Amino acid sequence: MDELTKEIMKFNEERGWGSNTDGRARSLAISVSLEASELLEHFQWLSSEEAIANNKQGIEEEAADVLIYLLQLANLLDIDLKEAAKKKIQKNALKYPIPN
Ligand SMILES: [Mg+2]
Repeated sequence: MDELTKEIMKFNEERGWGSNTDGRARSLAISVSLEASELLEHFQWLSSEEAIANNKQGIEEEAADVLIYLLQLANLLDIDLKEAAKKKIQKNALKYPIPN
């Protein structure tokens, strides 16, 4: 994931994007949510199967947008997403034990 984050940061730097850090975390968090909504839009009024058959490419692109903004937010806040996810899975395992 580090390599992907570096690629995204290079892309932004080359375009002069993201140099204003004022409110950047907030903007990135909003962008994660907006892109997740764009992902959802592909499923509106359709079954999962229909949505995938209709526009798998679009679903892929919106999922990528979510990841791109999330990686930027994690980079800005110095969050190791892999470690954070591992910790959260452990926390979830305690919260939701395997049923007997
Ligand atoms: Mg998008």
